[in-house]
Parts: sequence; C-alpha cells; structure tokens
Amino acid sequence: MPADDPRVALGRGGHGDPPDGSCIAALEAMVLRIPTAAPEADGTLEWRATTMLVVEAVSRSGIRGIGYSYTSAAAGVVVGDQLRELVVGRRPSEALQAWDAMVRAVRNVGLPGIAAAAISAVDTALWDLRARQAGEPLFRFIGAHRTEVPIYGSGGFTSASQDELTEQLGGWVAQGIPRVKMKIGIDGGARPEADVLRVRAARKAIGTEAELFVDANGAYTRRLAIDQAHRLAEHGVTYFEEPVPQRRLDDLKAIRAAAPMAIAAGEYSYTREDTRDLLASGAVDIVQADATRCLGVTGWMEAATMAAGHATPFSAHTAPSLHAHLGCAAPAIAHVEWFADHVRIEPMVFDGVLSPVDGYLHPDRRRPGWVLPSVVPTWIGGVYELLEET
Ligand SMILES: [Mg+2]
Repeated sequence: MPADDPRVALGRGGHGDPPDGSCIAALEAMVLRIPTAAPEADGTLEWRATTMLVVEAVSRSGIRGIGYSYTSAAAGVVVGDQLRELVVGRRPSEALQAWDAMVRAVRNVGLPGIAAAAISAVDTALWDLRARQAGEPLFRFIGAHRTEVPIYGSGGFTSASQDELTEQLGGWVAQGIPRVKMKIGIDGGARPEADVLRVRAARKAIGTEAELFVDANGAYTRRLAIDQAHRLAEHGVTYFEEPVPQRRLDDLKAIRAAAPMAIAAGEYSYTREDTRDLLASGAVDIVQADATRCLGVTGWMEAATMAAGHATPFSAHTAPSLHAHLGCAAPAIAHVEWFADHVRIEPMVFDGVLSPVDGYLHPDRRRPGWVLPSVVPTWIGGVYELLEET
C-alpha cells in the first residue's frame, strides 16, 4: 500500500496518522529456498533445502521491522492474501490488536501450520519495528529478565556419518558449549540398535562432562521409546525430545513416567492451546516453543509465561538469532537451540546475527531491534532461489 493511500492517512485504529510517521505504510513478504550443503535427515523427514518467509513492516518514515519463519512458500501467499490489509495503516502500538485480527482472519483457513507461520513472521516484524522506533534492542523493548541466554548445539542428523556426527558435536563442546543434541530414530525408528551405537560414539566424542540430548522427531512407539530411554541413559542422555509425535499426549505422559531422563516436546505448538495441553496434561518435563511457528513474539511470550506458571523449564526451538532476544525477555529460559541449519542460514539472510561466547548468546545492547536491516535485495541471483514475492 503506498504511503499516500487514504487508509494510511486515516490510520486503521481511528486515531489518525501520528505526526512522527510511525504508522505502518507497507508489509513486504519474500520467500526464499536455501539449499542445504548436503542432503539432511532426522528420524521422520529428509530435506535438501530450507524455505524461509521474511516479512518486513515498513513505517511511513521508512523504519523497517523484520520477522521471519521457516515454513512453506504458501505462508507468503497468506501474508498477501489475508494479513497485509489487517496491518497496513495501523499504528505500531496496535500490534496486539493486529495479532488478534490476524488470528481471527485465518479461522476458515486453519490457524495451525502455514497460517500460524505467516502470522508469526508478521508479528515479529511488528515487534521489531516498535523496538527500532523506540531505539532499543528487542530484548530490552519487550522487557529483559537477563542479558544472555544459554544455548545447546543441535544437529547430529541421521544422514550424517558417525565421523561427521562426532566431529560436529565434539566441535561444539570444544567451543565451550556444554550441551549438545543429536537426532535418533534412524529409518523411522526401525534401527534402534544403530541409534544406541551412535549415541555411544557421541558420548565418547564429547567426554563425560557435557550434557547429551537426543531428539527422535516422533519416530518411536511408546514401548520402543521407554526401552530406548533406559539404554540411552546408560550413555548419560539427560534429555529426550519428541520420542513420539507431540500430539500423542498420553504416550508422552507414559514415557515421561517410565524414562530416567527429562522428556521434551513443543516444537509443533502453533496456538496457545497447544502449549496449554502439553503443560496441563503433564506430558513433558521441558516444554519447547518456536516463535517462528507459535504466533510470533506475542505467542512465544505467552507460552513462556504459561511454562513459568506451571514451573516447567522452557526451551526455545531453532531460530537462534531471534530467540536470543526472546530468551532474555522470558520469565525463565532453560536454553535456546543453536540449530546447525539455521546457524548456517541466518548470517546469509540477516546482518548482525550473534555468535556464542562460552555457551551463551549475548544480544547486542546498543543495536535497535534484533538484527540489522535485511540484505534481501542482494539475494536475487545468488545461491538463493526467490520463490515468491508479495
Ligand atoms: Mg525436535
């Protein structure tokens, strides 16, 4: 929408366009597919590329707020088709009203999944815009409980050779990251013995002090997960993520009761009810949430508050550049996932992403927002394939 559009001049909130030019004049969306360096897999999925939706909310005075999600190209269509008109023309201070309106608008499309990812990217862009307009880093604008967040190194794909696995995990520990996570559930859970052998090799590579986490991505059955939990505990595994699919709350609860380590899930929470159900059912020891899926900064902070209310440790799933800020603002944070794929991609797409120091991420206290303005225009013609621009 052009800046001289009458809807911008009027202001969607009905209070007129503020004289400082803070009103939202445009919402730009772009979808990119970034190939992996090699084919990658976990227990239940193989992939050769990562698709990313980047949204920029642009104020009338030209300040740009950035949000993103790892999702389908269809999420870019949702932004243009259903969300843009609900956001453009508003004051940024109406971001929560915009969030309510976006959630309502996708009722018939279905909120979980693609629509939630689209709303997540828009909501994050609005929060980033507000932080930039205030001249504050995002974590301080939201309200910081702390200035650093602990991370865990995450990768160890089932597609990696044992040498690649041990090199990656051992490398993180050598960098001072004291906890690492690997994938299990090879061939959809059909080779549990191979999983145990790889965990044993990983433990040997990282030494006895580092924490070792595993993630089955829902590849196991209840019975197999309980058997494997006891075998993996012999190698010092202290955290078992998604042994069965997240929606199988009864199975998760049974596994939690029988397993000697912490059970974690939550990456497929798209709504506040998803997080509520995980917590209220007693299915997990550690609840995860992903701001690029669970309705942005707004939804993620709600999830963090719910976890705190249940006295349940809370962990951020993937997207480390954004979660470094949000983790500082959460009432409590167990850790942020330093996910290998996104660690590789985010510096390609954004300027000013963070590097870990002694197992922590420290958001920049002087830079407004959460990253520097995106480098999107230079992507085209590079290794990035532009799928959709709306
Ligand atoms: Mg996972």
